[in-house]
Amino acid sequence: MEVQFLKGIGPRLAAGLKKAGLNTVGDVLWRFPRRYEDRTNLPPISQTTPGQVATIRGAIARVESRTVRGGRTILTATVKDPTGQITLVWFNQPWIKRQLENAAGEIIAFGVVKDAGRNYEMSNPEWEIVDDEDESEDFARIFPVYPLTDGLQQRTARKAAESSLMFADIAPETLPAGFRRKYQMPDLRMALEQMHRPESEPMRRRARERFVFEEFLVLQLGLAMRRAETELEIGIAFPITQLIRGEEASPESTHLFGSQEAAARQGEPLWEQIRRMMPFELTGAQKRVVEEIWSDMGRPHPMNRLVQGDVGSGKTAVAACAILAAIRSGYQAALMAPTEILAEQHARNLTKLFAPLNIRVDLLVGKHAAKEKKEAMRRLATGESHLAVGTHALIQEGVQFHKLGLAVVDEQHRFGVLQRKALRDKSDTNPDVLVMTATPIPRTLTMTVYGDLDLSVIDELPPGRKPIKTHWKRPSERESVYAGVRKMIEQGRQAFFVCPLVGESEKLNVQAAEDLFYRLSTEVYADLKVGLLHGQMKPKDKDTVMDQFRAGDFHILVSTTVIEVGVDVPNASVMVIEDANRFGLAQLHQLRGRVGRGDYQSFCILIADATNEDSRKRMEVMVETTDGFRIAEEDLRLRGPGVIAGTQQSGNSDFKIADILQDGRQLEIARQAAMQVIEQDPKLENPEWAIIREKVLARRSDMAVIALS
Ligand code: ADP
Ligand code: MG
Repeated sequence: MEVQFLKGIGPRLAAGLKKAGLNTVGDVLWRFPRRYEDRTNLPPISQTTPGQVATIRGAIARVESRTVRGGRTILTATVKDPTGQITLVWFNQPWIKRQLENAAGEIIAFGVVKDAGRNYEMSNPEWEIVDDEDESEDFARIFPVYPLTDGLQQRTARKAAESSLMFADIAPETLPAGFRRKYQMPDLRMALEQMHRPESEPMRRRARERFVFEEFLVLQLGLAMRRAETELEIGIAFPITQLIRGEEASPESTHLFGSQEAAARQGEPLWEQIRRMMPFELTGAQKRVVEEIWSDMGRPHPMNRLVQGDVGSGKTAVAACAILAAIRSGYQAALMAPTEILAEQHARNLTKLFAPLNIRVDLLVGKHAAKEKKEAMRRLATGESHLAVGTHALIQEGVQFHKLGLAVVDEQHRFGVLQRKALRDKSDTNPDVLVMTATPIPRTLTMTVYGDLDLSVIDELPPGRKPIKTHWKRPSERESVYAGVRKMIEQGRQAFFVCPLVGESEKLNVQAAEDLFYRLSTEVYADLKVGLLHGQMKPKDKDTVMDQFRAGDFHILVSTTVIEVGVDVPNASVMVIEDANRFGLAQLHQLRGRVGRGDYQSFCILIADATNEDSRKRMEVMVETTDGFRIAEEDLRLRGPGVIAGTQQSGNSDFKIADILQDGRQLEIARQAAMQVIEQDPKLENPEWAIIREKVLARRSDMAVIALS
């Protein structure tokens, strides 16, 4: 039904509603208020205090407007009630003057109270005139405040909502009655009424909770359905149990053990082999996660697991254990990293680690000559080679595998859903997928963005790590920072200097790195060896520089953020970040994670002015904690959810009413509920769920579109 048929809405008001996207009664019913105003007890003006967010009511005493330099207009209105007065101020909205002068009634204003010397003030308040007509309806109640657009007035929005409630009981109930009872949700009609015309704050809260729950439920049902589908897919059941017992399961894997020494190790129980192979004892957390992964690998369905571990928690070793199990079962594995530097680092480490087992590792990166690449691709296609390490190139180019069993994706936040799928299509097999990320993601976000993955957390750092000490220094203290770094270098350590992202253009960033390199290498540290690394260098030159730094040929490496992810040089124990205020928290945490990887006390020095409240807060958080999860929570708070995971789907904007920061508990309940429902009814075919099912399917196709773009 169209909005003009609502009581009290004529053609003119209907036009305004339609312009705001409210075409039908249903649209109106489902457009919820942005906030509520409790007019049952508005404070007297004299009782407001600076800093308070308040709603006041009074008579308009005086309206003045002036134009200041630059053509800006300032409009002030004095509002009085029997106890006192307050000044309302609007900038550059001259048209409000006439509306106030013509107002036949009192004004209600909502905003932050400020102490402006003589008077208290509210700048750019929200406001509304209440006239006799409004008075006639009961004034002392909780008023909904709707989101407005140009041409839609609060009064119209409210009137439309009020009238639409007559139809609330026609709106088909979305949640099954039994389900509602179980979770103690009000029915739809009651919830709609309480949203638009709350009787009391507790009633309103329960109504909102229902809609928040419902919104989360739609998302979680979609994720649970996807998981159920994967459960039905046929994957590889790796003979993990046999490997652990030391029974060589696959005749195909015997070709690994060419050398005599290696042959002697055939049939060595998996854990023993790992213990002997690794240069260190795995931490308890690493072992637990490896077991979770192996247990997935042993099941006949494709693994879809996310491993979260803070920087330096040792994800590579965990990946190596998974890879070893796959290869010993006679399959190939692939490992993808987000940068070439990182791919090369992985290839180098794993080649060394696996060398005694005759496991053949091939590195596939863009820089390789065509001939070399072709050779590597041939080896992968024939199965001569067991492990492919590379960047995106691994899935973008025509790489085919003989028998791909496991794909590991490192630093997932740079990879999309689609790429995961592309990797699956590289082989006749349906490989297990293991995704690793160092980006600590608050649990609430994990449940939404990665809700279709199983989660393992490495929540322990290797022993002996000394927490990195972080200091925040002003640019004026640079000299003393330089001196401090020099002292560390004299003790045999190495240092990173990261220069800021200057802008969008990579050219400018490179320039900044070159400038800093020049200053450090010719002035500050003219007697030391300084290297330079940036994104525009030829891959081969990047390698050379990284190799030299790793080998200790440079004392200092000046770099752009290309070293942000994964780079591991244990002797580097100082990280200096120039203009640190230009970086987000997640990025600072990643950068800091480049040090503190050896036995030495490491330092991170943030050089920054606090340009605003936000950047000051970021520096303080960095100094205060090295806990990635706490940093992620703060980041979420400061920047909003969308930015963190770098994907659209994670944004709060995804939800009409729910707020993943505040409604985490509801999210948890909805997730549990969804899993139970899908367990009973994997395709949601029970007619009770018909409406929700449609929403779930619509939402899922939305998500697919996002993944494609
Ligand atoms: P990240 O999780 O950030 O990818 P890495 O896998 O690069 O971490 O490991 C960080 C460093 O810690 C590496 O130098 C690695 O050799 C070392 N490491 C990993 N696990 C252990 C362990 N259990 N004991 C000691 N050192 C370890
Ligand atoms: Mg890593």
